[in-house]
Amino acid sequence: MTDLYAVLGHPISHSKSPQIHTLFAGQTGEDLLYRAVLVPLDGFADEVSKLIRQQGMTGMNVTVPFKEEAFQLAQQRTPRAERAGAVNTLKVLSNGTLLADNTDGAGLIRDITVNQGVSLKGKQVLVLGAGGAVRGILQPLLEQQPAAVVIANRTVSKAEALAADFADLGRISGCGFAEATPPDGSAFDVIINGTSASLAGELPPLTSSVIGPETVCYDMMYGKGLTVFNRWAREHGAARVIDGLGMLVEQAAEAFELWRGVRPDTAPVMAELRGERRR
Ligand code: NDP
Repeated sequence: MTDLYAVLGHPISHSKSPQIHTLFAGQTGEDLLYRAVLVPLDGFADEVSKLIRQQGMTGMNVTVPFKEEAFQLAQQRTPRAERAGAVNTLKVLSNGTLLADNTDGAGLIRDITVNQGVSLKGKQVLVLGAGGAVRGILQPLLEQQPAAVVIANRTVSKAEALAADFADLGRISGCGFAEATPPDGSAFDVIINGTSASLAGELPPLTSSVIGPETVCYDMMYGKGLTVFNRWAREHGAARVIDGLGMLVEQAAEAFELWRGVRPDTAPVMAELRGERRR
């Protein structure tokens, strides 16, 4: 029987997840259908229950603004989901209960380290933003053993609180954008933009000295052409700029593996999405 999956969000029409998972299914020969579901802002739990009971849904991805609600709803959570406090993946277990996972962080780290070949070990890393996405990436990021992670955010108290929450995993601190300087005073090796400022075409107010000729900049946002942040980074001499499309495909592959027990090959799917963007 064909298994059913969906991505739940509000809004949702922009989501590339149905396309990505359909490509994964074709490639691996898995028998599944995956669609997007627009969920009313006050109706997440009801929708999940309806999808499972009435339609026999086997698994779900969850996007803005329901990631925290999905975390609360699940009866079981993976350790990385527990740390993140928000989840993007739900698996319906054989007894009908929900297992929740957060695959965003693993997706980001795999894209940076495997696809892009950028090692994070011993590096000075600046993370911009202190929202749900950043919370989800901190554990996998610190597991790479960077020399130091600095979180800079518009609301400084959120950056400080997040740093305190993860301080047991490595050297990490929180500050405002203006105070973002690497502990050794030089430029950062890697800068990850996890703010939603790019969505509004805005830039976090950083000093350009955070970027040096060796700095790799990664914007979790993606879109046609360079994101606002990556354009700024390139103009200020970053060695490389990377957008979040690879993270999107890799977090999807992690979810697919959790559901199906098969790891899809992400490279052809990324190539297809990037090709479409150019057309
Ligand atoms: P949240 O709403 O939880 O957090 C938003 C963050 O951005 C906060 O830290 C907020 O600061 C900051 N921010 C918002 N506007 C501005 C601005 N104008 N200037 C500076 N900082 C600003 O969002 P998420 O964490 O869920 O998502 C963040 C980004 O990550 C989004 O762009 C999203 O698309 C992307 N993302 C990409 C994924 C991928 O697969 N590629 C997966 C998940 C997310 P403050 O705390 O002060 O409000």
